[in-house]
Order: sequence, then C-alpha cells, then structure tokens
Amino acid sequence: MTAAFAARMFALGMCGSLTVAAEHDYPVRPVPFTDVTVEGGLWASRMQTNRDVTVGYDFRKCEETGRIDNFEVAGGLKPGKFQGIFFNDSDVFKVIEGASYCLAGKPDPQLDQYLDVLIAKIAAAQEGDGYLYTARTINDPNYDFPGRAARWSELASSHELYNVGHLYEAAVAHWQATGKRNLLDVALKNADLICREFGPAGQRVDVPGHQEIEMGLVKLHRATGDAKYLRQAKFFIDMRGRSDLRKTYGEYCQDHVPVVRQSEAVGHAVRAGYLYAGMTDVAALTDDAAYRETLDRIWENIVSRKMYLTGGVGSSGHGEAFGGNYDMPNETAYNETCAAIAQAYFNHRMFLLHGDGKYIDVLERILYNGFLSGVALEGDRFFYPNPLACDGRQRFNQGVLGRSPWFGCSCCPVNVVRFVPSVAGYAYASRDRDVHVNLFIEGSGKLRVGETVITLRQHTNYPWDGRVRIEIAADREAEFTLRVRIPGWAEGRPIPSDLYRYEPADVSTGWTIAVNGQTMPRDSVAPRDGFASVTRRWRAGDIVELDLPTPVRAVIAHDDVVADRGRVAFERGPLVYCLEAVDNGGSVHDLVAATDPKWRAEHREGLLGDVTVLTGTAQRAERGPDGSVTFAPATITAVPYYAWAHRDLGEMAVWVARDPSLARVKAVPTIASRSRATASHVWHLDTAEAVNDQNAPRASNDHALPRLTWWDHRGTSEWVQLDLPSRIDVHQAEVYWFDDTGHGGCRVPASWRITYRDGDAWKPVEALDEYTIAKDRFNRVRWTPVEASALRIEVQLRESYSGGVLEWRVE
Ligand SMILES: [Zn+2]
Repeated sequence: MTAAFAARMFALGMCGSLTVAAEHDYPVRPVPFTDVTVEGGLWASRMQTNRDVTVGYDFRKCEETGRIDNFEVAGGLKPGKFQGIFFNDSDVFKVIEGASYCLAGKPDPQLDQYLDVLIAKIAAAQEGDGYLYTARTINDPNYDFPGRAARWSELASSHELYNVGHLYEAAVAHWQATGKRNLLDVALKNADLICREFGPAGQRVDVPGHQEIEMGLVKLHRATGDAKYLRQAKFFIDMRGRSDLRKTYGEYCQDHVPVVRQSEAVGHAVRAGYLYAGMTDVAALTDDAAYRETLDRIWENIVSRKMYLTGGVGSSGHGEAFGGNYDMPNETAYNETCAAIAQAYFNHRMFLLHGDGKYIDVLERILYNGFLSGVALEGDRFFYPNPLACDGRQRFNQGVLGRSPWFGCSCCPVNVVRFVPSVAGYAYASRDRDVHVNLFIEGSGKLRVGETVITLRQHTNYPWDGRVRIEIAADREAEFTLRVRIPGWAEGRPIPSDLYRYEPADVSTGWTIAVNGQTMPRDSVAPRDGFASVTRRWRAGDIVELDLPTPVRAVIAHDDVVADRGRVAFERGPLVYCLEAVDNGGSVHDLVAATDPKWRAEHREGLLGDVTVLTGTAQRAERGPDGSVTFAPATITAVPYYAWAHRDLGEMAVWVARDPSLARVKAVPTIASRSRATASHVWHLDTAEAVNDQNAPRASNDHALPRLTWWDHRGTSEWVQLDLPSRIDVHQAEVYWFDDTGHGGCRVPASWRITYRDGDAWKPVEALDEYTIAKDRFNRVRWTPVEASALRIEVQLRESYSGGVLEWRVE
C-alpha cells in the first residue's frame, strides 16, 4: 500500500472494513418465500392475478413502449432510436425480477423461454467492458439525457447506477428461480466494472443520485460470497454527504451530510427508502453500530412524524419527497406506490436486525393499505400517488382520475409486479430455537429448527377475521419457542409511536392464545417485543389458536397533524377504511361522524373481490334555502381503503370530519363550477379543474388544495379558460392566485386580464377595476357586461417564475 493510497483509504474511512463479512448477518433469518405457500384468501388471489395478469401485461407494455427495443437497438440486433426515458431499462429488469419470483413458485416453460430470449437481448446491449445503459450505448444525437457528456458524469440524475441495481436484483432472482446464469453473468460483468471504476483506491469517488444499487450489490454478495460487492455497497453509502471528497447532490438525494449524521427522513421518498433498506443490509453484514443507530433514528422520525395512517410516506408531490414533520395533507398526499414498497423493504430488514414485532406492525400496515391501493384488483391499473382523500374531480394520478394503465415514468407498475410475490417471504422467520409467525396468511411455512424440519400450517380468514389456527407438523418432536406476533392494533396501538391513537384507547385488547384447546394464561404469553411466546416440546398435530378481536376502532391523529385535526378514521383489524361517494349518496366530505358510528360489519362475497363492509350512522351537512347549514341523520358505508376507486369515481375520505365545522357543505352550483376548465399548460401533478372546484383557499400558499399551475413554464404568457355552460351575460370575476414563495417557483403573475370568446376571436373585456395581483385573497375585477360562451384569464408570468390559480369565480 503506498502512503498516498493509505492516506486516501483513511480519508474514506475504509480501513479494516469487511474482512469478517461472512461472520455477521441478520440475527433473525427470514423463511424465504420459496418455502412458504399461500393457499387462500386475499394474498393468494393477489398473487394469482400478479402471475396471470400483471407479469404478461407489464412485459407487453415494455414491448409497446420501446423499452425492449432499446436493448435490441443498443445490441445492434435492429436499427432504431432510443425510445422513452433514459432509465427505462430498469423497468424491464423489475418485471424480470417479478416474473422470476413467479417462476420460482410455479413452473411456466413459456415464461421461462420468454425470459431467455429477453435476456439474450439484454446481453447483446452490454458493452464489452460490462457497461449497460441503453440510452448511452444507442447515443442518438437527437436524444438528450443527463450525463450525456461522459459515462457517470451526472450521477445525480442519469440513474445509470439505479438502472443496474435493478439488473442485479433481477439477475439474482432469475438465477435462484431457474438455476441459469445467463442474466447473472451479465450482472456480475457489470458489477465488476462498477467495482473497478468506483472506489477508494484512486478511482471515482461518487454516489448514485437515485439509490438502489446498494441492495442489488448486497444480493450479488450473497449470491457469490464475494465480499467486494458488499464493500462496494458500503462505499456508495459511506460516500454520501462527503462534501470533503466529492461534489454532493444535496438533501433531495440524502446527500447533504454523511449518512451517519442524518437523523430525519428527507428528500425523494423512494431514494430515501432504498438507501435505508440497503444500509440496513450493510449494517447487518458488517455489524456496524453507527449505521444501526442512524437507522433507528431515521425510522423513529418516519414512524412518529411522517407516516400516513395507510403506511404511505412522501407527502409532497413536488420532488416526490418527504414533507416536514407532521406535514401530511390528505387530498394532495403523494405517497408514491414505490415509496410504500421501499418502506416495506426497510421495515422488514429492521425486523430482521432487531427482532421486534413493531417493524412488522408497520410492514403490515403498508401491505394492506398504502401499498395494496397501488394496484387494481384486476392487476392492470395502477396508482402512482395514493392520496387519502379525493374530491372526485382532480386527475391526481399523473393526469388521470383513478388508476391508470401505465405512466411515462412507469416505476410503480413494475415495482408492484416484483413486490407482490415477495409478500410470502415476510410471513415467517427464525432465530436459533425461536420460530416467528409474523403475518397471518392461509398457507404454510417450512423451516428448520436444529435438525428438525417443521411446517407451520395456518388456517385463517385474516384480515376479515382475527382467528388464526396454526397446526404444527414436524418429522419428530422438537423443543422450540413459537413466537406469534400480537399486532400493535390488537394491543390498542395503531402504530409504534404517538402519531395515531385509538379512541377509546383500550378498545378490546382481549386477544387469546390456546394450545391444543387450552387457553394460555395471559401472563404466560404477555408479548415481548411484539410476540407472544410458547416454549414446549412440540409434536406433530399440535394446534395453536390465536384469536384477535376485530371491532372497528376509531383513530385520532396527533394534534400537530393539522390536516387530520377534528377528524376521525376507522380501522378494522389491519385494514384502514374509507368512505366513497358511490356508497354514500354521492358525497362524503359533507358527512360528520362520531368516534362511534355504531358500525355493523358484514362480509360481502363478490364485492370488490370479497370485502367486509361497515355500515353506521352519521350526520350530513345540508344547506337550507336561506343559506343556513343544518344536519340530518345519514347512514354511512365504509370499505377498505385499498379497494377504493374500483366503481363510480367520486369523493373519498379516510379522515372523516368529526368537528361539524369541517363538513364541506355541498356548494350551490355556480357559473364557474358548471363550466369546463382547460389551460394553455398544466403541470402533470396539477389539474385545470382545480380552478372551479369551489374549494376556498386559506392562503395563496395553501398546499392542501388541488391547484392549477403552469409549472414549469417560467416567464411565459399563459391562459386558463372556462367554457361556460351556455352563452350568458357575465360581468365580474374573482381570482385567487397560487404563490409558493419560500417553497417553490410559483409567484403571482406580472400582469393579467380577462378575455372573452366572440366568434373565433378572444377579446379583452372593458375592465372597470384595476387588475390586482394581491396574495391571500380573491382579486376581483368588474367589467362592462358582455355575453360570452367562454372566458379566459390571460397572464404574463414573472420573469424566471411560474404561477398558478387556486380558485376562479365568475358572476
Ligand atoms: Zn414509482
């Protein structure tokens, strides 16, 4: 080792690392999904749909959108140009991963062969030294992408390393499922290149802008036993935030300070979740105490301050990012499906690291709610964001109201396809002579305790029913501790923090465990780390029965969550419920519910793929002829949140008003509300319909309301238009400008005016008032009445700024 190299190693904090890789690992070992069967109930049907529909559907979409052509073009197998977004290769890798998991569960020669043909195309696209990134290899002069100048020159946004991270995960899955090395060899050749290029020994010192490769490298390490891949994952993690060694990419990429000094979940929520999951792997495999402490801090921050009741995270659509502490609007909640998946990965790994059931509580909450909402029952429609309220108008899902067949950036549909089969792998785990039952799923798990092979067979109708019967089968008697998870919700704790609480707090925590028909004294099975334990000499045929009462529980949020103040949500078992307009007389935001609506639960076969529906009582706010608000009794119906948006789309709410003043009384239709709104340009996360939705803003920077913005057009002339319900006399408009000074790039416009359509021409009205541009109030302008069929607000945006409108009224 030269002195300079030694000094650099020291500077990078790499000395003495990873000589003991094989000696450390997670203390808790998961039972791999290949040793778990899922034989009935909700997950069996989801897994079947994933296998029968989503895999083929996703591959077809990848073909139709040029994602697979890109490999063929890059490999010289056909002429053509690069199509789509520069990191689209990753989508194909993710579907291969999901398809491989399906193959592992059930042989399918046709799928197997399809994968081999596809893998040959991928191999053809790989450059001689192992580099794989079709956008660059094709190098179409007319196609611009970040880092075009040179390989790895713009890792903040090029996603070159994110792309291949998914390649590694796919390759290991495919190798495990089929025993074939065709994709694994491609992955290893690429990973070897990365290991040569990036590192402390005089190589590049840089990190991926979008994490993912860390988890992929750890999987390669596990597959090959080669510690260099683990070392490389640790290098990428350790180099984050090292502004003394490299140009960093800021908080958005969790690259603002070194990871071990980070305490709060910030920035892009998927990047963050992948970082934390990868870091947990490395913490386990290198026994790194500083990593562990960091992960504990960050997990605490998420679960106490930043997690929606559904388990969703990343409240802000702008930057697809974590918001501030307690900043969790419902209607504009972003909660990307991929961010839910990333949190599931993180929480499962934290369980394996610490063995505490609280991580499975969070995982379960994500599985049944914030993740599951992301894919339609039919398996071919998807949510990108997963909001907790909807007004039935805003096209919140990347320009679509309801689930969408695909997206330009289609990370979520292809993440779903690989995640669904993995759920089986979270159900069981073991640690020495402890056997953990984490999730309650009809089917079985097979594992080894010492020399004995044990099969645990579960019979349950969970989540609809809290009774679980576990039958033990073993080839001989064996002494071990069966640890059955007692979910936090059954212990009166919705989430392992004070972010949400049940009201009343002690609602039915009377669960029981019986062994061979004998109910165990509660003291003897008092949960430790979230698990009730029974140690004995188990024999084949022994039966353990868990009974978790599932009354409907009312949830109240921490008072600092402004969006949930004065509101209540409802849960039954692990499921969060919501109200949808289609079940509730056409509207739900005008309802006021008590914490005890006297719910009746009824299981309905065939509805939304078999769900338990809740029916109760509430009050509905109505506006009388004199304008006063009165309340009338109403029957309300709630369905599981994950199943919403499968029928007529209308309003939806998870958090129902408890405080009568929060009931959104159905507004009397106005000229504006009966008009159709369009605009010269609409940012893909906003909608033109926001301008006439009759939601009164509280301020110009009101982020809780849907809005129209012309983002990311800056300094341009733009318009928003209302096609009036008929030709009518109009004489006044009021405009509430959006302005996010201190937050984003939208400001009140430099100037504006109203025009009206006269034949084919747009003419300015004869204004009687000044066109004002005040913030935090309506700006009113009157004009000499005209008869018009359409009106426009024409704006000149401020130089280098964009702008937007929250609400527009017309008289
Ligand atoms: Zn996504």
